[in-house]
Amino acid sequence: MAKKQFKTESKKLLDMMINSIYTHKEIFLRELISNASDALDKLYYRSLTDASVTLTREDYTIELARDKDARTLTIADNGCGMTKEELENNLGTIAKSGSYDFKQDEAAKEKVDIIGQFGVGFYSAFMVASRITVRSRVFGAAEAWEWQSEGADGYTVEPCEKETHGTEITLYLLPDNDDERYSDFLEEYKIRELVRKYSDYIRYPIRMEVEEHRPKEGGEEGKAPEYETIKTIATLNSMVPLWKRPASEITEEEYNTFYREKFYDYEAPVKTIHTVSEGTASFHSLLFIPSHAPFDYYTKSYEKGLCLYSSGVMIMEKCADLVPDYFSFVRGLVDSADLSLNISREMLQHDRQLKLIARTVEKKIKSELLKLLESDRERYEKFYGAFGLQLKYGVYSDYGMHKDVLSDLLMFTSSNEKKLVTLKEYVSRMKEEQKPIYYACGETADAAAMLPQAEAVVDRGFEVLYLSDDVDEFALRAIGTYAEHTFVNVSDESLDIATDEEKEKLKAENESAEEMLKFMKETLGDKVSAVRFSGSLKNHPVCLASEGGISLGMEKVLNEMPNSNGAIKAETVLEINLNHPLAARLRVLYEGERDRLAACTKILYAQARLIGGMSVENPTELSNLVCDLML
Ligand code: ADP
Repeated sequence: MAKKQFKTESKKLLDMMINSIYTHKEIFLRELISNASDALDKLYYRSLTDASVTLTREDYTIELARDKDARTLTIADNGCGMTKEELENNLGTIAKSGSYDFKQDEAAKEKVDIIGQFGVGFYSAFMVASRITVRSRVFGAAEAWEWQSEGADGYTVEPCEKETHGTEITLYLLPDNDDERYSDFLEEYKIRELVRKYSDYIRYPIRMEVEEHRPKEGGEEGKAPEYETIKTIATLNSMVPLWKRPASEITEEEYNTFYREKFYDYEAPVKTIHTVSEGTASFHSLLFIPSHAPFDYYTKSYEKGLCLYSSGVMIMEKCADLVPDYFSFVRGLVDSADLSLNISREMLQHDRQLKLIARTVEKKIKSELLKLLESDRERYEKFYGAFGLQLKYGVYSDYGMHKDVLSDLLMFTSSNEKKLVTLKEYVSRMKEEQKPIYYACGETADAAAMLPQAEAVVDRGFEVLYLSDDVDEFALRAIGTYAEHTFVNVSDESLDIATDEEKEKLKAENESAEEMLKFMKETLGDKVSAVRFSGSLKNHPVCLASEGGISLGMEKVLNEMPNSNGAIKAETVLEINLNHPLAARLRVLYEGERDRLAACTKILYAQARLIGGMSVENPTELSNLVCDLML
């Protein structure tokens, strides 16, 4: 019988299948099982209105059979079956479903991706098989047909004998080679693994004959039992997905076991979020907030994303578009009946439905985290310890575009008992006369607390947030204002906590010592933009403050970035404590011992840097200066 040719597109596609990389090849089983499931659906729906279909719900099955000698794998269903014309039309042309425009997709890489992520239906079987036969009989029809093909050179359709209705697809697996072991697809463990991975929630049982080793009956008591191998039929899929069961019937233990197995975590999640959304975007979602960051979380190799299912069939392992970067720690899945199985990654990105789902998911994560914060502080802090940094990066990136989503989730160590507080809590107990939110930066919260200016602000009864992560100050700047309060760095020159009287006094002192302060500034050259007296340093003799947009902390962080060349400079002011005995001493030196004043100025500057958590620029010089003073 003459072979019929595939349509041109199909030929191209076959070519691409055959050259696909191995890890993608395994999806052929998912595709064939999904088709079988659809065929069962069709007959099942028909049975609802057609009395001639006498099967009960339990009768519908998908059966897998292996023959290692013949190297064949068979996937059989007792669904609707295909007529001769259907076999030709459905299997002779690719992309009957029309969801996939082959011509648009020229780039080879993208092609491979499409196979891997979404599959292209029946044809994927040619990735693992050199020959395929499809025997099919429509329900109620007398005749059956056999479609056969060895790939690109066409196919034949002939009448055949088939006792039962439905479709039986036999794959003649390709020979193994150095790179690929197609015979793996005949192994029980492999098939079980693939069914669990991709098709666990197909609504019909997927059955296969398996071997079971059990102790022989009637063994002698006291003796180790002998084992025998028994062949039994096993159902490989669990059928009802956890997320489709009502939350009220699921125990925490079940959720946790599911999470651990699916996402390979040894620890239970901090929070499980199980929702059913109806309306414009209807989907089930099961999300988990892990209790610790995976080892690669803060590296480039970490891939965010939720697992995407279309009606219980996994179509993408990590769909990045479903979660924003700042919630990239969320693991879980989304299952929607509105997404087609054969949709390309390109199209998915622009899919309106998917965008709606992503927005709903984002809102849900936020509201659940806020709930956790209110109801279980300890757990929230555990979560925050693992992922707070990511939230802060989230605020900072995109110039604070997401601050509304995130600012209420942030926490910082506070001068109030050195505990983590939220901005909301901070603002709720601000003093009546307090305008800005104060913060201090340091390597650690303790170091920030020790800053002279921080002590001074706390001393006046204001609460101070101690920032210790590089991103912290940038995040607050990106937020800009919170509940109409600005953020002020206690080391900023604009810090304004003095009374009017104090300000007057300070102004007068600075004016009277103008010449001396100028001398000190000149001694330090470009290192500082000014030297000034300050009235708010408590017991400390000196400290550094910054003027303008870039704080000392930011200078440090920015200069530590690759390729920065240390080019970022904060405008620095050396502040001398007006109320310290040193202030009077400096004046004396200015009158009589200028050289000594110059040396003292350099030492004071070095001290101020050390107090601010910075390194001394020239340690040898400092050491010599101190020695000179001692002599
Ligand atoms: P898709 O499933 O996206 O439509 P496929 O290439 O996998 O694309 O299948 C093409 C068509 O062949 C299906 O739409 C269906 O009509 C038919 N088909 C495939 N497998 C079966 C089956 N096991 N039973 C009945 N019809 C099938």
